[in-house]
Amino acid sequence: MNHLCQESPLYDGECLARSNAPDLDSYDHILVAFSGGKDSMACLLHLLELGVSRKRLELWHHRIDGADGALMDWPVTEDYCSTIAAHFCLPIFFSWKEGGFEREMLRDRSPTAPIHFEAPDGLHTIGGLGPQGTRQKFPQVSGNLAVRWCSAYLKIDVAAAAIRNDPRFVGKRTLVVTGERAEESPGRAKYATFEAHKADRRAGKALRHVDHWRPVHAWAEAEVWDIIRRHKVNPHPAYWLGFGRVSCMKCIFGSPNQWASIRAIDPDGLRAIAQYEEIFGVTIHRTQSVTDRANQGQPYPMVSSKWRDIAMRKRYSEPVFLDHWEYPDGAFGESVGPT
Ligand code: SF4
Repeated sequence: MNHLCQESPLYDGECLARSNAPDLDSYDHILVAFSGGKDSMACLLHLLELGVSRKRLELWHHRIDGADGALMDWPVTEDYCSTIAAHFCLPIFFSWKEGGFEREMLRDRSPTAPIHFEAPDGLHTIGGLGPQGTRQKFPQVSGNLAVRWCSAYLKIDVAAAAIRNDPRFVGKRTLVVTGERAEESPGRAKYATFEAHKADRRAGKALRHVDHWRPVHAWAEAEVWDIIRRHKVNPHPAYWLGFGRVSCMKCIFGSPNQWASIRAIDPDGLRAIAQYEEIFGVTIHRTQSVTDRANQGQPYPMVSSKWRDIAMRKRYSEPVFLDHWEYPDGAFGESVGPT
């Protein structure tokens, strides 16, 4: 942990008025779903500007590929998130479905895998005994989470299960903070800014009060970059490469330019996805393979820069703060990603 954590305040600027925020001091725990992307970064920085105490704040990151997989996500993301947490003197807890995206996708008359989640008292494991099911194909490119199972099974349900199964949340008030923005898609525009979280049991026997707040829901992309610029935070390497959103590296929503960029950055990775499309006989996109999509696009100009190696490493060793902050290539660029 950063030695400054012992004494430094979380934020040494002037704290903002909290008129549009829930009563943040009323919560025992504030959990920020932290992907490493700009919107979750904006949530974190906004909470700091609102003067939230470090003692109640923690970052949660869901490992899309599980503990050891490498099919979907940027190799650097996990360490980027850990590095950010350390520099802001905050704990970060990882959670994941065993085997990640790949195991869930390959289910063949088998139950969904157990969930692992970190907590202050160590690693917990739950589930793995559910009904048998078969997928044998990629999630569908849809706003409907029932068929776009990756968001639900690998993130939303993992977070809810971790909250339900960690006794430290019983009898407490917890706020879950996520970074969806209305501007991203018509589906996200319909999300409530504030509501009871799906793990809430305020009326149940266990008495677990859990709220869900989306503080940047109404923000424009310019406001998101503005708060990152104000704090001089170095954005995730994918933005420097030209990606407009940082989700899974090989997100099923990828555009032709993104698939072309991925082929330039990680040809073996693209091949692995293409091979699964062939095995399943079903492509991610309804009518085109990822190879067709890549053939239609142009790699982003920065894919041959030093950021390619930085994004593909497991260790992040770039500066967290930039003296001379500038917009990365991906800012205000193609905004494709989960709807
Ligand atoms: S980023 Fe894309 S591929 Fe990854 S979980 Fe979300 S929708 Fe699925």
